[in-house]
Amino acid sequence: MRPPRLPGILLAIASLAAAGPPPELRCRFGSTHAHCWLETGGDDGGFRVDVQPETAKREPSAGEARRAFRRKHRDLYRGGTPAEALRYAHEKGRLDFLALTIHSHMATPFEYATIRDAAEAANRRYEGAFCALVGQEWSTISSGNHVNILGATDICDSPNGRYAALYGRWLPSRPEVPVVVLNHPFRAQGELDRRLLETEYGLDDYGGDPHALARAANPHVHLIEVVTGPAFGRLESRRRWRGNPDGYFRQLNRGIRVAPCAGSDNHYQNWGTSSPARTGAWTRDLSPAEVLSALRERRTFATEDENLALWLEAEGIPMGGVLATAATRVRASLSISDGDEPRARYQVRWIVDADGVLGDEARVVREMEGVAGEVTVDLDLPHAPSYLLAHVVQARDRDSAWTAPVWIERPAGTGG
Ligand SMILES: [Zn+2]
Ligand SMILES: [Zn+2]
Repeated sequence: MRPPRLPGILLAIASLAAAGPPPELRCRFGSTHAHCWLETGGDDGGFRVDVQPETAKREPSAGEARRAFRRKHRDLYRGGTPAEALRYAHEKGRLDFLALTIHSHMATPFEYATIRDAAEAANRRYEGAFCALVGQEWSTISSGNHVNILGATDICDSPNGRYAALYGRWLPSRPEVPVVVLNHPFRAQGELDRRLLETEYGLDDYGGDPHALARAANPHVHLIEVVTGPAFGRLESRRRWRGNPDGYFRQLNRGIRVAPCAGSDNHYQNWGTSSPARTGAWTRDLSPAEVLSALRERRTFATEDENLALWLEAEGIPMGGVLATAATRVRASLSISDGDEPRARYQVRWIVDADGVLGDEARVVREMEGVAGEVTVDLDLPHAPSYLLAHVVQARDRDSAWTAPVWIERPAGTGG
């Protein structure tokens, strides 16, 4: 029997609890993007990278590397060592996980190995309480934007902006790379940004054809930063930091299968304290393998609130997954919880792409208001392949959170 429709009202209904997250999963809050002292500094707070030619050209001996390392960073020390960054993120930032992501075209193999060693040590020290991840930020903003490659064993040597080489050669030759994140999507406000959109994440490498880009990128990319930064904020103020959902919806409409995340992109000593924005991920535990697999399976959301947790599913398929169905009416449910704000009120906006990939971007098809708990709706979908997701806004402070989509695939011969 269908439960009653909930016209415009969201209620905390315990009897619908079956729709919530599986009991073995817990919501963890972290960041998929951060820098540390290997790269950060400058007298006026500017971002300055000072790679010594002798360490950039070949692998130094351990002694040479240590000396070059000290020389290089003697005057640049601002951000803390990788080990300090991870300790800070755990103890002061209260993050469950943090990825240290060095700029790949500026990093030496020794520096990358240093970050990997620090992460391994942190994972032994904080086992079960904190997860350190390692990544690299590849490419440049002007050549198509940055992506974060998490978990690779070596530095990506594809030239900046050569996305076809990244998707077509480098990533396929490294099946061990678990997660790729599209960083800080363009805001498309000015003329420059509009021109950059034509190169975004490699679109220009595929003749501007989003289908071709999606075919090449989808086997390899998993997440997109809906919230980024404040990259160059120096404060430990946990100041409110707003997201850029347009970039998320633009990629979804191009057919790119990405789930939302928040990357704090710290360049100073404020991992977890620069803002309350977090990547939420549903994991069994805090081992690196488990956190990476939650990110890879797109079991994520992005939130501007430190501990607002969202779980979405459609016909039993969890967010980040694919529902294969011919039905044009789909039952979706959303769980909202926030441990320290149990009385908060929320607006829930259900978002659907009503005409499938390309055409118009996804839009709000239903809005509700209520308190934390669970809500179920029946959503009308097009015959074409599509996706649905939820955007939640906290009433008082206007903090937002966005879930991963559930993608809807149509069996052959049923439209689309
Ligand atoms: Zn970046
Ligand atoms: Zn960065």
